[in-house]
Amino acid sequence: RIPVSPPFRRMTYPSSRSDDMSMPKRSASSEVARKMSPFTLSPRRSRSHFAEDSAEDDTAWIGLAFSGERCAHPANTEAAVIAAIAPEKDVDCFHPYNVGRLNIGDPVFQPCTPAGVLEMLQEYGISPVGKRCVVLGRSNIVGKPMAALLTQADGTVTLCHSKTPDLVDITRQADILVSAVGKGNCVTASMVKDGAVVIDVAMNRNEAGKLCGDVDLAAVEPKASYITPVPGGVGPMTRAM
Ligand code: NAP
Repeated sequence: RIPVSPPFRRMTYPSSRSDDMSMPKRSASSEVARKMSPFTLSPRRSRSHFAEDSAEDDTAWIGLAFSGERCAHPANTEAAVIAAIAPEKDVDCFHPYNVGRLNIGDPVFQPCTPAGVLEMLQEYGISPVGKRCVVLGRSNIVGKPMAALLTQADGTVTLCHSKTPDLVDITRQADILVSAVGKGNCVTASMVKDGAVVIDVAMNRNEAGKLCGDVDLAAVEPKASYITPVPGGVGPMTRAM
């Protein structure tokens, strides 16, 4: 059991990492890549051009990150665009090949957000071994790979989604609760066990336009042994990874 340890601790971007997370994403990327250029799909720059560019044998191209913004053309479905990424440069781990490798426990790449969560747990000495882990959200980008990585780290994982019945009964069992739903304040204090580790992946905007997570931080923080704030928790880890 994770000890209830008031004063609880906020898990933030580890100070032992040297990366300067105040840098904008583009500048941060320029630290590791020699070129970063957006490829926007359009009728004149099609998926086949993207596939060719992505497979280009150019050592300057070390990876591709997919922003999710797509050309309005109906053929450019998310699946079609992802399938056009060269698997060996698929640093976000979106391509079906890499998703398969991740799920058999032999990853080539790990998706940055869940990998950042695992690194953060390790940094704070929180082992998932033998812990009951609950993940809220089953997206391909966050929820599913998060569940896979926690399973491989020997946690006992329950993956929940919008159709999960009796959600509160499940979340209240969590030693480690990871929320990636995308709805402000959807994780309330009554959903959290005393002493739980609460990881808030979400990046939402409240009515005032302020960045916030899924977790009602003010209410949940006193119950948690560790908690990640938004902003300043998982977000910087994603960029660092
Ligand atoms: P998404 O694709 O919209 O998935 C949301 C998931 O939440 C879905 O699986 C949905 O279930 C589930 N859900 C919705 N309502 C629920 C409820 N009441 N109870 C339990 N599950 C519920 O979102 P995403 O791309 O994974 O992103 C989730 C959040 O994380 C967003 O706020 C996003 O901005 C943030 N995010 C942050 C980072 C970071 O670096 N910090 C990175 C990526 C994403 P169904 O599948 O049944 O619809």
